[in-house]
Parts: sequence; structure tokens; C-alpha cells
Amino acid sequence: MADDIFITEETIEGADDGPLAGTTVAVKDNISTEGVRTTCGSRMLEEYVPPYDATVVTRLKEAGATIVGKSNMDEFGMGTTTETSYFGSTDNPAAPGHVPGGSSGGSAAAVAAGEADVALGSDTGGSIRCPAAFCGVVGIKPTYGLVSRYGLVAYGNSLEQIGPFGETVEDAAQLLDVIAGSDERDATTREAPTDGDSSYADAATGDVDGLTIGVPTELLEGADEGVVETFWDAIADLEAQGATYHDVSLPSVEHAVEAYYVIAMSEASSNLARFDGVRYGHDADADGNWNDAFAQTREDGFGDEVKRRILLGTYALSAGYHDKYYKKAQDARAWVKQDFDEALAEADVLASPTMPVPPFELGESLDDPLQMYLADANTVPVNLADLPAISVPAGETDGLPVGLQFIGPAFGEARLIRAGSALE
Ligand code: GLN
Repeated sequence: MADDIFITEETIEGADDGPLAGTTVAVKDNISTEGVRTTCGSRMLEEYVPPYDATVVTRLKEAGATIVGKSNMDEFGMGTTTETSYFGSTDNPAAPGHVPGGSSGGSAAAVAAGEADVALGSDTGGSIRCPAAFCGVVGIKPTYGLVSRYGLVAYGNSLEQIGPFGETVEDAAQLLDVIAGSDERDATTREAPTDGDSSYADAATGDVDGLTIGVPTELLEGADEGVVETFWDAIADLEAQGATYHDVSLPSVEHAVEAYYVIAMSEASSNLARFDGVRYGHDADADGNWNDAFAQTREDGFGDEVKRRILLGTYALSAGYHDKYYKKAQDARAWVKQDFDEALAEADVLASPTMPVPPFELGESLDDPLQMYLADANTVPVNLADLPAISVPAGETDGLPVGLQFIGPAFGEARLIRAGSALE
């Protein structure tokens, strides 16, 4: 039943040997693959074939991996369920009849269904961690700057990172080893220390003896009861292995969803301006003047959620409103960062439920965008603060997967991998 997981099924062979030889990888369809169409889940790019590989794809090939397809996603990464895809929705292999989460739902589903050993997604506000949690697999959102964004089609460029999915923490960590590291084509990247481990994969020791865990009380408020219960069972398990926990407070996260959506939509309105029917993708072929052709191309090419965000983002950046919305959101972003710094000064890692709710039923959330935005409450603060986080399976509630999120200091991925592997 792979037909709803991939937008394009195509085998791309890598080098004969390397650390990922024999490993199959699903790649989210907003990551450029030379000669293989890259749609971003949009009609706008239905026939767009990139002339170059993203840096992460070059690294996969060099490591000997075999790419098996381009996976389904919310249109341009805008969504939490993969249902805004122009190509239709994806079923959740771990909970049939439910969404796989989003926006990297196809990538998580590919791993959960055994269609690929590992997968790449992108996370602007939770799009790796949410589908990992909903599909019962592991997903890592790296520190901003750890992984090159060269060849990733931009949605909210100051927020997003490419990151790995795996069935186990070690599998995901091994993929992170391959894609991480500075890239001369992305000036925001840098080399990072690994807490003394020789690789991220080596950090998956499961040793949490002495680990201090801060639990932000704000990230449990309003969460589903079964999710909260599963979360505390997992914390008790970590305690039994020698970790300790204490409550911490992040007062600013109350404003994180609002701030995130103002920033993400503003950046989206600018990043998506390039889709004009001239340089990329769909061309409405409208007669008449260029303004009409431009408008018609975008009217046909973009779905409702993308249009909503371009309109709101353009409004938020417009003269007269810029300070009221965009600048205010940037202030909130700085406050969120500061709150995390303070909490992480007193704990090795922070822990919360990845998603406050179990996976929605297919079709359930589409009519109410606000409800969908609020589901991102626990993931978006991490992107605002540029920090790394991992989602690991914590158990189930009513037969539906629940994910636990660990958040660490900048470039503290090895620590998150160690903590996450203790729950396996
Ligand atoms: N659900 C969030 C959004 O729609 C996050 C998406 C993402 O991380 N790409 O913006």
C-alpha cells in the first residue's frame, strides 16, 4: 500500500559502498533530486524537475544509500496532517484511518510501513517530530545550522531544518551522521561538537544514569489525558534507569504558536513569490497582461492553505502593520529563546509530549485551521529557539501512538540521542 506514501516512486542508486550501503531512504518531496521531479506536494510544481541535488541528497549518494522515492507531504510543508497535499492524503500505517501527521507524513509512514529503512523530512515547526510521534517512529529536528538547507525548497527559512526518521534512535542517528556538517553552499551551517562521542550513532547507548530532565509544565497543560499518562509512564521508566526530573517553567511559550505563525507566514509570503509561472512550475498560459497571467498561475497552482498563508504573511509584513505583527513576533521569539536557555541551565534535557493529542482521524481537522495550528503548541517553540529535539515512541493511548519529545541545548544532539535510546 505504498501508493499513498510516495508522490514519485523512483530508485536512485548511490555509491557502491559507504556507511549507508544497502540502506533504503525515502526523501520528502521538497528536497531537490537531480532529474527526479520535486513537487512540494503542490500542483504548482507538479512537473518541476530540479537540475541539481540538494546537499543532503549528494551526501546520501556518497554514503551508498538507495533512494526509493519522494514522499508525500503537506503542500510546501504547510500543515500537520499531510492532508493539504495536492496528491491526496496518506494513511497512517501504525493507526489505519488516521493521519500520519505532517507535514513530512509520507516520510514517517514510509519508515513505519517498512517501505524504507530510514527517511528524510524537514521541520519548520514540528514537521519531523509530529509525524514521527503519530506513526510510532523516531524523528530528529537538528539544531538550526547543523544540516545544509541547500536544495530544500524554502517555506520558513529562518525556522527549518532537514532531519532524519528511523525505526530506532540509532538508525536515525546514523542518518544524521551522514547529512550533518557545514556546507559552503549554505552559509548558516557549521561543524558541531558531539559531546565527546565519535558519532551520533555511537551516542545511542541508552545510558541515562545521572541525567537531569526538566519538564516544562506549560507543555502538559491542555494535553489529552491519555497522552499525559503515557508521558509520565515514560518519565518513570527513565527514573528507574537513574535519571531524575524536576518541573521547569517556560512562561513565554504561551505566545509561541502566534509568534511562529506570524513569522512562518511572513517568510512563506516572500519565499513563495518566486512561483510566478515564468521561472518555475505551473504556467496558467493566460492571455493578456503579465499581472493576469501571474495571478491565474497562482490561483490554479496553490491550494487553500498556501493561499491563506501568503495572504496573511503579506498582510503582516505590509507597511503600517510590520511593527505590530512581525516585529512583535520577533520579540516573542527572543523571549522564547531566553526561557529555554534558563531552563536548560538547570537540566541536561527538557521533556514533553511531542504532540498534545493522538493522531486525528483522516478528514477530521481540515475544516478548522486554527485547531490545526494549536496542535503545534509543543513543537514550534523549539524552532523559534533554533534548538534540537527528538521524538521517540513512548507508548500508546487507546491503541494510538504517543511520542515523547526531548529538547536539548544548541548542538546537543548526542545528548538527545542518548536519552531517546533509553526508552527503547
Ligand atoms: N504544522 C506547522 C505548519 O504548518 C509545521 C510545519 C512544518 O514544520 N513544516 O507550519
